[in-house]
Amino acid sequence: MQIKIHRGTHRIGGCVTEITTKQARIVIDMGAELPVLGKAVSELELEGVTMGKPDCDGVFITHYHGDHVGMYDKVLPSVPIWMGPTAREIFSVVQRTVAEKCGKHSVRPVDFKTFYAGKPIVLKDTTITPFMIDHSAFDAYMFLIEAEGRRVLHTGDFRMHGARGAKMSAVFEKYARYVDVLIVEGTMMGRRDEKILTEHELGRRAREILRDERAVFVLCSSTNIDTIAEFYAAAIAENRMFIVCEDAFQLEILRVVTKNSRSSFYCFDRQKIYVYGENLHKKMTERGFCFIARTNRVIERALAAFPHNVLIYSMWTGYLDHSKPAFDAFKSKFVEEAVRSGSRLEFLHTSGHADASQIREICQITGAKMIVPVHTEYPEAFCSLGLCGEVRILNDGECLTV
Ligand SMILES: [Zn+2]
Ligand SMILES: [Zn+2]
Repeated sequence: MQIKIHRGTHRIGGCVTEITTKQARIVIDMGAELPVLGKAVSELELEGVTMGKPDCDGVFITHYHGDHVGMYDKVLPSVPIWMGPTAREIFSVVQRTVAEKCGKHSVRPVDFKTFYAGKPIVLKDTTITPFMIDHSAFDAYMFLIEAEGRRVLHTGDFRMHGARGAKMSAVFEKYARYVDVLIVEGTMMGRRDEKILTEHELGRRAREILRDERAVFVLCSSTNIDTIAEFYAAAIAENRMFIVCEDAFQLEILRVVTKNSRSSFYCFDRQKIYVYGENLHKKMTERGFCFIARTNRVIERALAAFPHNVLIYSMWTGYLDHSKPAFDAFKSKFVEEAVRSGSRLEFLHTSGHADASQIREICQITGAKMIVPVHTEYPEAFCSLGLCGEVRILNDGECLTV
């Protein structure tokens, strides 16, 4: 069996991993590079996958973040792409909205095949079993790949402090032991000083803020369902209005989650969700509100209408930091202007990624003989974790035979 990390050995995002056996060839994730201000995003071409004669049995997507699925439309039409069922629905909503906004009608439809947690897919001599994992994307998966007497576990992006975090150790214990190669994400290896809140701690703090404040705006990713569910629960508990943007985008995503989820935590009652419009201002003043917002002109006007507001920034602060490669000038400007206009800024965010102790824990549980870091700028930091298995630091495109 051969493992090749085409991208991601020394960077966060743009993930593409290839696993080849005597008979089969699969790819895990087809991610776009994260945009870096002032730098062109590079395209990756793979013979038999994105160009030439089709020669790939399937592309398996761990989750819907762009750095894992953003290049899906480059995959040759006859190569099947697989994704989790709810993730596919959410991603379809995102793609449709992007296409409408850009006026593009040529975006490839999200005609992915779907898999289910714990149900193996057999492609020639290779068996791929997806297991649901805790991440800031909903319906995210890791993959166990078994072929030629080897067991390879690809974690995708994961953490153990989100809504399903408490279950994660047991999932690894039950399904992912005796692993030969663990391909594991290491985003937080470069952010060792960041204190990680659990999603529930975030929810508790959200409730405190909503108890004390009447005008609360929240900037967070529209697809970060765990965080939105915490704000929703906090708003309902404090009898504040729960408001989403005036376009149908956020509402549609919450509808998809509610329809497909069996957990009451992810049940967003349509009767309790208000769609923003200036006609709500009187009620918003009387009852207080939690507005899941985005950085756009409508929100700017809403902020101006409630000048004594709290603006909760529930995203990675690196987007606001000029020195970080992922700096987002638009978000940064939006937040600066809001603060200048009187918003009280509060940072309340939890990471979508495992910290060093969580990485160490899953290396131990899986008993991985070999550990390959990906999705990290600091793969060499794995060597200082005191792991039992051999840490193998690869370069992009290097071939590892196991
Ligand atoms: Zn990622
Ligand atoms: Zn992710």
